[in-house]
Amino acid sequence: GQRLADKRVLVTAAAQGIGRASALAMAREGATVFATDVNTDLLETLKNESDGAIEIAKLDVRDDASVKSHVERARPDVLFNCAGFVHHGTILDATDDEIDFAMDLNLRSMVRTIRAALPGMLVRGGGSIINMSSAVGSVIGAPNRFVYGTTKAAVVGLTKSVAVDYVTQGIRCNCICPGTVESPSWHDRVKALGEKLGSYDEALQQFVSRQPMGRVAAPEEIAALVVYLASDESAFTTGHTHIIDGGWSGQ
Ligand code: NAD
Repeated sequence: GQRLADKRVLVTAAAQGIGRASALAMAREGATVFATDVNTDLLETLKNESDGAIEIAKLDVRDDASVKSHVERARPDVLFNCAGFVHHGTILDATDDEIDFAMDLNLRSMVRTIRAALPGMLVRGGGSIINMSSAVGSVIGAPNRFVYGTTKAAVVGLTKSVAVDYVTQGIRCNCICPGTVESPSWHDRVKALGEKLGSYDEALQQFVSRQPMGRVAAPEEIAALVVYLASDESAFTTGHTHIIDGGWSGQ
């Protein structure tokens, strides 16, 4: 299909997981995709996988200058803020440094990219901003996800605030709240829990059993929602949390 034929798209954290699947899905729909990440080796493999159709660049979402220069070059109609990090632990486990790091990577990064991209979108008369939140924090609590849940809930507030301020100027801003999704960092989390429990299978079972469907999502299933929110098919939705969690919070 060519559902994104005339769109220029910038994706952060596009080297692996949901960001990568989304970059590929949007390229398949005809978008001009700028895939960015700090992992340039993996970005190269993404470029190859797209037969060179996807442009890649090293963009660190924690670095204002890096964000500004790449957004200037990409001139995005669609901004997919996908970068985020999962901290493990309770409020008593989290250090101030860990909280500051997660606030910066999971939340402030979106302030940076939106500040850089929004003025151009306004001049061109429209844009779709898609922020990666999570079911965790924004709709349901999960054990040992204090820092993560706190930052992801804040993404909802950021999303609604941007949406309401620019709704009459052609800008839409939505966020995505996935349940558990298969990705390299998710595999690391299962491995780490497996080491703690002394059983990889038991760890896997814990992650899978909280999804009523009895499985986790494939990143491509989240990418399908990203394509929808990027396209004009979703023209009537803004300021919302789009929950896609295998029935986790919907029971
Ligand atoms: P992942 O965690 O496996 O990959 C994250 C990517 O982010 C990596 O390619 C890494 O290089 C990149 N990255 C790290 N620091 C960066 C920085 N400073 N600047 C730019 N890029 C940086 O991928 P994932 O699990 O698909 O997660 C992607 C997003 O989806 C995250 O925001 C995550 O919180 C969210 N999410 C994931 C799940 C899940 O179960 N996997 C569920 C809900 C939400």
